Amino acid sequence: MAPVWCLGETMEFNRRGVMLVIASPSGAGKSSITRRLLTGDDNLTMSVSVTTRAMREGEVDGRDYHFVSLDKYKAMRDQGKLLEWAKVHGNFYGTPAAQVDDLIVSGRDVVFDIDYQGTQQLYAKRGSDMVSVFLLPPSIPELQERLRARALDSEETISRRLQNARIEIEHWGEYDYVLVNDDLDKTSQSVAQILATGRLARSRQTDLSGFIKDLQAQIDSL
Ligand code: ADP
Ligand code: 5GP
Repeated sequence: MAPVWCLGETMEFNRRGVMLVIASPSGAGKSSITRRLLTGDDNLTMSVSVTTRAMREGEVDGRDYHFVSLDKYKAMRDQGKLLEWAKVHGNFYGTPAAQVDDLIVSGRDVVFDIDYQGTQQLYAKRGSDMVSVFLLPPSIPELQERLRARALDSEETISRRLQNARIEIEHWGEYDYVLVNDDLDKTSQSVAQILATGRLARSRQTDLSGFIKDLQAQIDSL
């Protein structure tokens, strides 16, 4: 089977996309890192979740989340339209199934900003397509500072998110990579490297066995 394209010495094969999960306690830097990744990477698509949470100032419906009513959310969940779903910080969230599989089959990578419950469900359903990264803050005072500096949530919400951080952090051992986000540039680069490595995994190279058969046939015909 011929490679998709051949440029000088470089050959690239068709491959499955990477399902890149980025999780962390709230405020540790998921959104900032995901934004940076998306800006520099044409092959990466964000999975836009549905949520019943109220829209924050500056958020855009359809870009940051699909903001839905509880009834609409329950209907989507009960009709099997969510790949995973969970209640987080008192609100419901879920990943719409539509499109994700098509993107992965066509070799596009998809990044998911989901919590540990969603990661577990996705792992059970699509584990072989997944690469997961868990981000930690350098310290809890720093996490508190970041949540306050973000100025998007009330003190009550911030203290609930800090309490939930305890539970979220307990799941660190379920991720492929764990990074301390003390420097945004450095951590973003590390996540980009993890994605680049995931793209090269043998399991994603869908044309490789055909290419190898072809090499073997060339040897046989010598
Ligand atoms: P999350 O999506 O995990 O809730 P955000 O990406 O919204 O977190 O980050 C929370 C706040 O912390 C934002 O104001 C962001 O600019 C800031 N931040 C993120 N990473 C760092 C870092 N490495 N150093 C300092 N501030 C950071
Ligand atoms: P926020 O309200 O700050 O945007 O997100 C709160 C938490 O919900 C974060 O930990 C985020 O990762 C998680 N979250 C966002 N979307 C989803 C989703 O579709 N599924 C799951 N399981 N968690 C999500």
